[in-house]
Amino acid sequence: MLIMNARTDDTGHTESGHPERPERLEAVTAAIEDLHLGDDLLEVAPYAASRSELARVHDGTYLDAMGNYCYEGGGDIDADTYATYDSWSLAQHAAGAGLAVIREMSSRGDGVGFVAVRPPGHHALRDRAMGFCLLNNIAVSAAELTSRGERVLILDWDVHHGNGTQAIFWDDPNVLYVSTHQWPLFPGSGAPYEVGGLHALDTTVNLPLPRGATGDVVRHALLDTAAPIIDEFAPTWVLVSAGFDAHRDDPLAELALSSGDFAQLAQLAASFAPSPGRLALFLEGGYQLHALRDSVSAAVGVLLGSDVASERPTNGGPGIDMVESTRHARVAALRLAYDAGS
Ligand SMILES: [Zn+2]
Repeated sequence: MLIMNARTDDTGHTESGHPERPERLEAVTAAIEDLHLGDDLLEVAPYAASRSELARVHDGTYLDAMGNYCYEGGGDIDADTYATYDSWSLAQHAAGAGLAVIREMSSRGDGVGFVAVRPPGHHALRDRAMGFCLLNNIAVSAAELTSRGERVLILDWDVHHGNGTQAIFWDDPNVLYVSTHQWPLFPGSGAPYEVGGLHALDTTVNLPLPRGATGDVVRHALLDTAAPIIDEFAPTWVLVSAGFDAHRDDPLAELALSSGDFAQLAQLAASFAPSPGRLALFLEGGYQLHALRDSVSAAVGVLLGSDVASERPTNGGPGIDMVESTRHARVAALRLAYDAGS
């Protein structure tokens, strides 16, 4: 069963010409309709995440400032990121949608979660909006889970590095953050030597990949470098920052994945979950509407047992050597950090 947030009217969060636009969620809605889930789809009502739920990962002064900024009409926050009057309520509901989905899954002990919201979240820092993101939706849900004693793997396959999520959980040993991303690319973080803080060494795993990298290279990076660390960490929940902007047709980046690759990545994510009912995808990027629709269908569909990807998985692109050098750089960085900490 797919447990998904019911869609809220997000059309008020929009800026003329901006790629992070309401049509994205229309494409995602169409992608789910394409699966004809019938009774296999359970929609849960999102709600506005409370201040205390948001304050687990955001500074109170930031929450006040962002709320006020929106209620005064909003505007451009930086070169990439905008907010409107409606954005604050929508961002709170986006964060609350994750909590609602996680709680429904917890009470059922079953299902696949999908949190399809905007604005996205993984660039949002504790005290700053960034990269189209106002509140870090996946971090809010991960923090709720760790407050209950869970150990959370956040797998971030968005084409951009989730600098906000990494920073929020940098020194938290109960969250393992694993990111595959194009390198170099916005926001510039996500180097292999970024391995976590002194209390949480080896719980940040960055797997940068060169432009043109194909699905086989992404899978190799995850299996070769991340999988042993994930096994050791033994997550009790797996949350995915599921951006679909690593698709070869996406206008914002230059990785070369297909919808079939996203199906394979979803299966890999599921293999990291300890049992059914412990895997939830959170929408992040994905700006080419056809690619987004196709990729969401493929990824969600395969988790529910249907292979609907219209594009074959890709292979043969560059980056295997970067996976190797990443592994060496991690080992060296960990050695330095352990020496410094001892
Ligand atoms: Zn992205």
